[in-house]
Amino acid sequence: MAESHPSDLIGLDSNRVRSILLTIEEGIQVWDTDGVLVYANPATLAQLGDDGVPCVGRHWRWLASLSMPSGNDDRFPVGQVLAGAPSPEPALLQIGTEASGARWLRVNAHPLVDARGCITGAVSSSVDITQLVEQEQCLKRQVHFDTLTGLPNRTLFSDRLDQALAHTRRHGQNLAVCLLDLDGFKAVNDILGHPAGDQLLREVAARLHDTLRGDDTAARLGGDEFALLIGDLKTAGQCEQVIKRVLDTLGAPYLIAGAEVHVTASIGVTLFPGDTMDPDQLLRHADQAMYKAKQAGKNRFSIFDPTLESRARANQSLVRKIEQALERHEFTLHYQPKVDCRAGRVVGLEALIRWNHPVLGLRMPGEFLPLIEHEDVIVHLGDWVMEEALQQQQRLRDAGHDLVISVNIAARQLLRRQFAEQLESLLQRDGADRLEIEILETAALEDIGTVGSLITHFQQRGIRFALDDFGTGYSSLVHLKRLAANVLKIDQTFVRDMLDDPGDLAIVQGVVGLAGAFRRDVVAEGVEDMEQIRRLLELGCDVMQGYGISRPLAPERLLPWLEAFRPDPQWHIPPTTWAAGTSLRH
Ligand code: C2E
Ligand code: MG
Ligand code: MG
Repeated sequence: MAESHPSDLIGLDSNRVRSILLTIEEGIQVWDTDGVLVYANPATLAQLGDDGVPCVGRHWRWLASLSMPSGNDDRFPVGQVLAGAPSPEPALLQIGTEASGARWLRVNAHPLVDARGCITGAVSSSVDITQLVEQEQCLKRQVHFDTLTGLPNRTLFSDRLDQALAHTRRHGQNLAVCLLDLDGFKAVNDILGHPAGDQLLREVAARLHDTLRGDDTAARLGGDEFALLIGDLKTAGQCEQVIKRVLDTLGAPYLIAGAEVHVTASIGVTLFPGDTMDPDQLLRHADQAMYKAKQAGKNRFSIFDPTLESRARANQSLVRKIEQALERHEFTLHYQPKVDCRAGRVVGLEALIRWNHPVLGLRMPGEFLPLIEHEDVIVHLGDWVMEEALQQQQRLRDAGHDLVISVNIAARQLLRRQFAEQLESLLQRDGADRLEIEILETAALEDIGTVGSLITHFQQRGIRFALDDFGTGYSSLVHLKRLAANVLKIDQTFVRDMLDDPGDLAIVQGVVGLAGAFRRDVVAEGVEDMEQIRRLLELGCDVMQGYGISRPLAPERLLPWLEAFRPDPQWHIPPTTWAAGTSLRH
């Protein structure tokens, strides 16, 4: 290629200028006033490679067009200098494609002026900054991408989530925000080692990437946790199809370190709109749903239900109302007598809570207790019940009626560490040995070890324990052996239908027999009529509680009822028809 000799451009002799231009690593180009290249040093040709042949005689637009998007040529510094701009911004030229190994040049230009200050052309320099650009890109990747899998990381995922929410709002379709956790990943790490674990994560990432559409996002948030954004969904059904595809793809076997490895995924999904528009909350909801999917047995997905969430919020307001009601003394206990019908005497009272609501009137426990059974307030309520029941017991004792009082204890209160301490301090008080604690059979089965040792410990200290609603919790004989409760209370559903339903009669008979075999007392609850009473007496169940004997009584009606109590003569049945059973020993 011909070289020009711009020895007249600067005050150096042409040989020196020539050797400088030939040896420096920077590309140097000289342009005439029309913008035509009149000189390019060898470094320029090396920088431009195949694209630079031949280059002298070409217009600067050709150089600009090598990479600058068309229409942006005006920003090319040579053109700007020739147009009179004294020091334009340098331009960044990308030579070649990324696939063939792109090179990056930074091009700067300055005007050439004569003694009168007139522009006679331009000189430009080009520096190869490929290494710099690559370093910068690498840094950017590290900030936004997970180094192990190459997927977007948490930072980029947050950005994408914001964009996806904005896009979904504009276009009115659905967006699924999903959290995905691998099932069984820890075992792979533990058994095959960390490099195998890493390989598995890379393979999972590749499968996720291949399964989703280009516009969707799969990101790795850390460990074996991934997040997905699936957009432009018309229906929830469409979302389910995609998620099922992801589950199938990830569930197929992997070949890792020569071994066939099986892992699955649990996915939590929340759909926008429908759920909140707050990105953090969406992720929390997806996380809750994922937890559910894990609990339900893994290798599945669960979709967050915002109505359940709003119900939980409604519960929170109920919790506050109940706390207020406690402060305002709106709760009261009614007492239902337990009567030994064979002996014809009252043997105890069960305390049953009621909420004397200022607007809604008397509310039964079934209306509010189930809604707060997992909240701390049920423990506060339970503390109040225990205290109130013991005070009532003392008042009755003062009036000459020394009766066992039963209180119902919620599972949450029973399984608290402080419960034992609470009972311990109660025992320091007079009369606490006449206390009976009713535990739902189902609550006892929740943690049979803790409940079992609690019962054994406090029984020795004089507190009695009853398994409430017995028969509904599938207690096995083994359980019963470990739960040394004094009393089994036959659930009222069996008592209600025992006269018509042979199955229920068999259960009642069975519980009475079981109580006999394990030397426990037995109480029938929900006894409503004389026929039931007589049948229970025949079966050997003497102690009963139910509307047939007395409804639960408000405190002021309790003493008059006890004073007026007389055994019903119809309770008497000839001794020959008695079956072997147990009687309550109070
Ligand atoms: P539970 O302990 O099994 O109490 C017996 C329930 O049956 C009471 O309902 C009682 O009023 C009702 N009942 C008694 N006799 C009859 C009858 O002949 N027929 C019918 N149909 N029902 C009868 P209540 O008072 O509505 O209490 C429901 C449940 O709420 C109780 O069942 C108990 O599990 C729970 N509960 C009540 N008070 C408390 C409390 O202070 N703390 C806790 N944790 N739970 C309580
Ligand atoms: Mg009870
Ligand atoms: Mg019951």
